[in-house]
Amino acid sequence: MPSESSPAITLIGGGLAGALLAILLAQRGWSVDVYERRGDPRVQGYAGGRSINLALAERGLHALRQAGADAQVLRQAVMMRGRFVHPLHGMPGLQRYGRDDSEVIWSINRGDLNIVLLNLAESFGARLWFDHALEAVDFSRQLAVFRHHGQPRPVAFRALVGTDGAGSTLRAEMAKVQPLGERTDWLDHGYKELEIPPGPDGDFQMEPNALHIWPRDHYMCIALPNDERTFTVTLFMPHAGAHPSFATVQTGADAEALFRAQFPDALALMPTLRQDFEAHPVGQLGTLHLDRWHLGGQAVLLGDAAHAMVPFHGQGMNCAFEDCVALADHLQQTSDLATAFAAFEAERKPNAAAIQKMALDNYIEMRDRVDDADYLLQRELELALQARHPGRFVPHYTMVTFMRIPYALALQRSELQRTLLTKATQGLTSLDQIDWAALDAQIVQQLPPLEPAAG
Ligand SMILES: Cc1cc2nc3c(=O)[nH]c(=O)nc-3n(C[C@H](O)[C@H](O)[C@H](O)COP(=O)(O)OP(=O)(O)OC[C@H]3O[C@@H](n4cnc5c(N)ncnc54)[C@H](O)[C@@H]3O)c2cc1C
Repeated sequence: MPSESSPAITLIGGGLAGALLAILLAQRGWSVDVYERRGDPRVQGYAGGRSINLALAERGLHALRQAGADAQVLRQAVMMRGRFVHPLHGMPGLQRYGRDDSEVIWSINRGDLNIVLLNLAESFGARLWFDHALEAVDFSRQLAVFRHHGQPRPVAFRALVGTDGAGSTLRAEMAKVQPLGERTDWLDHGYKELEIPPGPDGDFQMEPNALHIWPRDHYMCIALPNDERTFTVTLFMPHAGAHPSFATVQTGADAEALFRAQFPDALALMPTLRQDFEAHPVGQLGTLHLDRWHLGGQAVLLGDAAHAMVPFHGQGMNCAFEDCVALADHLQQTSDLATAFAAFEAERKPNAAAIQKMALDNYIEMRDRVDDADYLLQRELELALQARHPGRFVPHYTMVTFMRIPYALALQRSELQRTLLTKATQGLTSLDQIDWAALDAQIVQQLPPLEPAAG
């Protein structure tokens, strides 16, 4: 619990990262104030009223364990064992992510997760200020100005942490003092959130313990389960260009025609598709790059405010949660904020860049590759090599999702492994044709064992 002499810190944004960081710092004796633009979700119901869910993996779960929030969060989560792939022709089926139920991901409701974290933050003494939107910062006078119910409200601060998401106002204010080298690569694809309600018996209408994917080459649908027995469906496709794109599919009737032709099994479960399609906006997706994340000891950015990414590896929140643990650790190691912020940035920036790249690569894998014969053979080989070389040949998805090795190391090893897999399966139709001795030798030579402690 913070006391009068506690060091003070001000967080901008009480979303997922802001609420978690507030817990971690308050637990370590910091005096924490969190300013959030929106109203209190515990009073008003979560903005939007829709069930939007996220995949929680080991990195995020580990951070929740540090905060003592994991048990509460998992109680409301739905286990996802793998991808349930729905080809246009042929049988749908489950491709497991890991070896068994110790290697799974969890679908959680964004609003419920935020509420669990906000409650815990408050219980550890963090002060939460809702309806406070940051508008401007005067760094020379250490004053932040918030808009509160239409009125400007100046607040003195010692240091600011930007957990205010992809459109961060703090980032814009920092850039007025020192350019941050900001650029965003917008994806030419967007997304629309839709819903599969419970069936007439009140139960899930599809396999609940899976992340469903309908891969269709240059576009796709996915669906994640919610604990209220619905699925949140997300349609990803290009903004413009040849059919289908958001330019050619504009109305509810257009969407129904697309689903009838391309996702007929999903359409049968979506009675409100037309209305949902017309009511919900098309979301933009992009990758945010910055050269600098901090301004001396006065301000630092983390989570989406520092490195927003496309959602195709389901790691944006997981990475933001890892950031929170890293920043709290660096702040514990030195009382000099500039040193702590610089060390945090040096540790996390290369790793954020690595997962941003892997997230972009994973879009192609999800929408275009998961039902290809060569991909399936490579996946089979990947699992066989994992069994032959435990701790040395670790599948890409496992390194990112079920381990906590630095993302940059996961990327480097994944690239090596991808080359080995592609070369070893070229022109083959079955693992019986593999030259195991040659492949084993290359693996031993190129892939040192991963440190068990890193897992
Ligand atoms: C379609 C989609 C699917 C995704 N799926 C996954 C997934 O499965 N797994 C995963 O790990 N990640 C996923 N992500 C990414 C994840 O949503 C983000 O990485 C995560 O929300 C980042 O958390 P954050 O706290 O940094 O930002 P946010 O969650 O955006 O929170 C920012 C907070 O700051 C507040 N705020 C904004 N401006 C101000 C201001 N001026 N003053 C005060 N407060 C302000 C906002 O109201 C908000 O509460 C997905 C993203 C998208 C778009």
